[in-house]
Amino acid sequence: MYYPPEPFRIKVTEPIRLISREARETALKEAGYNLFALKAEDIFIDLLTDSGTGAMSQEQWAALMRGDESYAGARSFHRLKAAVEDIFGFKYFVPAHQGRAAENILAACLVKPAQYVPSNMHFDTTDANIRARGGRPANLVIDEAADPVNPHPFKGNVDIAKLKAFIAQHGRENIPFGMITVTNNAGGGQPVSMENLRAVADAYHEAGIPFFIDAARYAENCYFIQQREPGYRHRSVKDIAREMFALADGMCMSAKKDAIVNIGGLLCVNDEKLFQDIKNELILREGFPTYGGLAGRDLDAMAVGLYEGLDETYLSYRVAQTAYLAQRLNEAGIPTIQPPGGHGVYVNAGAVLPHIPQHEFPAQALAVELYREGGIRGVEIGSVMFAYPDPDTGQMVYPKLELLRLAIPRRTYTQSHLDYVVETLAKIKSRAAEVHGYKFTYAPELLRHFTARFEPLQQ
Ligand SMILES: *Cc1c(COP(=O)(O)O)cnc(C)c1O
Repeated sequence: MYYPPEPFRIKVTEPIRLISREARETALKEAGYNLFALKAEDIFIDLLTDSGTGAMSQEQWAALMRGDESYAGARSFHRLKAAVEDIFGFKYFVPAHQGRAAENILAACLVKPAQYVPSNMHFDTTDANIRARGGRPANLVIDEAADPVNPHPFKGNVDIAKLKAFIAQHGRENIPFGMITVTNNAGGGQPVSMENLRAVADAYHEAGIPFFIDAARYAENCYFIQQREPGYRHRSVKDIAREMFALADGMCMSAKKDAIVNIGGLLCVNDEKLFQDIKNELILREGFPTYGGLAGRDLDAMAVGLYEGLDETYLSYRVAQTAYLAQRLNEAGIPTIQPPGGHGVYVNAGAVLPHIPQHEFPAQALAVELYREGGIRGVEIGSVMFAYPDPDTGQMVYPKLELLRLAIPRRTYTQSHLDYVVETLAKIKSRAAEVHGYKFTYAPELLRHFTARFEPLQQ
């Protein structure tokens, strides 16, 4: 099994510690068995998210020192502008403090009540920003995406027949813009092919609908295209990215992912009138258009990080690191969504703990157990996050899969950290029958996974 040597060496370290088993038990109890409520210092390996948790390079830290904190027209802005124009090729852009801020501004400018915004799958903040304007997000990903063992190389693709039928049904006047998420975060970090992107762009443009890309992990997506799609093997990832963005009318991006910064976002468009509206909305909510809610130093770190995120040695290491974790888990008899995506491994918790019914939260049980056994934090993506009562019958509707996501921060953990994760999960698997379910002691109505509290059920 191939684990690529990290294409960097370590110059600065941040200590992590494994607190005692009793201390972990106490921490769990105090947190109401919700891992979001733990103190970060009580976590040994944190795989909660890959968002804003990556390690910046020496060039990025050096760039911070060059940050120009002028209110308007800062040098930092112009350095970022040069990078954004070079990589993405859109006519206009603004920075924003993170991805959801860019989404909010886009939705504020374009979405009217009862309008539809289709995508492969909207990320939860995108979904919420469309709904917050009275709009209706729609997910039209291919059916293969729902099958955890299907090895389809581009499981993030849009079902083109469904998209065309959707446009015909609702009409362009009810669809202010269409989207696609690359890679498809909500669907396991699965990529979209260039062929599919082209067909999606054509379907929107034939109907006169503007097309936007949610580009948080565009570089990982373009690397998958280079590796998996016929005709792209000899093209650079940057060149593939240019081809991808040339298909779209704009994009929004969380820079906390593939731009490897701790905070930041981008919104790019080609339409001049829309750009004017965006600037006005930005001034109201984020700040002047040359800083968009960020410090000058943040803009500089992003300008450098955008190029580092496209580096092919880095990308091959990153994607291989994720694949390594998935393969070692599979060899230990722990099933994961296939094929592994770009930014994390999704463990099929329902299959690891088949004796726990969905209403007792098997993926939450596995997440808690992973912390209890080894001080590791993952995130439940199952019934805690997604089950809801049917508005007509009141019956609970459960998601198809109970998953535990192990997101991999960029340039942060090494092979031995991942090996420790595998060993810890293997130990849990060997005593899986002893692991019990949970019940809520508190659950808010919306986005309940963040603040819910639980109690273990007796065995
Ligand atoms: C993270 C993410 C967002 C939101 O970005 P934030 O920077 O967290 O606000 C939007 N879309 C996708 C696909 C993401 O992964």
